[in-house]
Amino acid sequence: FLQGKRALVTGSTSGIGLAIARALHGEGAEVILNGFGDEREIATLREELGDAAHYGADLTDVAAVEAMMADAGAIDILVNNAGVQHVSPVEDFPVDKWNLIIALNLTAAFHTTRLAVPGMKAKGWGRIINTASAHSKVASPFKSAYNASKHGIAGFTKTIALELAEHGVTANCISPGYVWTPLIEGQIPDTMKARGLSREEVINDVLLVKQATKKFVQPEEVGALAAFLCRDEAQNVNGANWSVDGGWTAE
Ligand code: NAD
Repeated sequence: FLQGKRALVTGSTSGIGLAIARALHGEGAEVILNGFGDEREIATLREELGDAAHYGADLTDVAAVEAMMADAGAIDILVNNAGVQHVSPVEDFPVDKWNLIIALNLTAAFHTTRLAVPGMKAKGWGRIINTASAHSKVASPFKSAYNASKHGIAGFTKTIALELAEHGVTANCISPGYVWTPLIEGQIPDTMKARGLSREEVINDVLLVKQATKKFVQPEEVGALAAFLCRDEAQNVNGANWSVDGGWTAE
C-alpha cells in the first residue's frame, strides 16, 4: 500500500530505524537510509532494501541535514528516529553529551521536518513519525538529557500535528519501552556504574522492571506500527503518542 511513496528514515543503519525501513520497504515504499556504520554492511542493507539511497549525514550538523534534504528531494514519509543516550547523574552530566543528545534527538527532527513539510503540503499527503520513547511520558533517573529530548519531541509532534492536520499530513510519536538494540546494550555498563549494579541486575531490576510483560520489545514490532501509521486508514490518527512498552507507562 506504499507503492510510489518515498520514505526517509533517519538512523536506519541499525536497530529500530532499520526495522522501520524494512517494514516500509515491505509495503512497497522507496526507502532512503541515513545513519553511520560499516560501509560494507551499509552496502548490503542498501541492496536488501531495493537499491536504497543512503546518506551518512551527521544530523547534529544543520548544514549536513540541509544538504541531505535538498539532495533527497520530495519525501512522503519522514521518520525521525536517529537518537543517542547517555546515562549519568545530572551534576556529572558531560555538557557535550547534553548538547549532542538535544541536537540529535530533538533539534534534528525540527530541521528535517521544516524541510520536508513544503513538499508534503504541495502533495496534500504526508506522514511524520517520530521515534520518541517511554521516556517521553515518564522519567527514570540519570537520563536528564534523553528524557528532556524525548519529552520535547512529544511536544513538537503534537504541535506539527495541529499545524498540518488540514493538509493530509499526520504526525505521531511511537514510544517504545526497552527494545533490544545496540543503544540498549551500550548503556548497560554506564548504568552498572551509575547504580552500582551487576549486568544481570541492570537487565532484570532496571530495564525490565517496569516493562510489565518482562520482555524486550522487538524492533520489528515497532516497524509494523510505523507501517500502520502510513496507511490511509490511519489518516485520523494524528498527534498521538503510541506506547509499545509492554505496559510500562500504564502504571
Ligand atoms: P541504535 O543505536 O541501534 O541506532 C541508532 C541509529 O542512529 C544508527 O543508525 C546510528 O548510526 C544513527 N545515528 C547516531 N548518531 C547519529 C547522527 N549524529 N546522525 C545521524 N545518524 C546517527 O539505536 P535504537 O535503539 O535503534 O534507537 C533508535 C531510536 O529509538 C532512538 O531515537 C532511541 O532514542 C529510540 N528508542 C530506543 C529504545 C530502545 O530500547 N532501544 C527505546 C525507546 C526509544
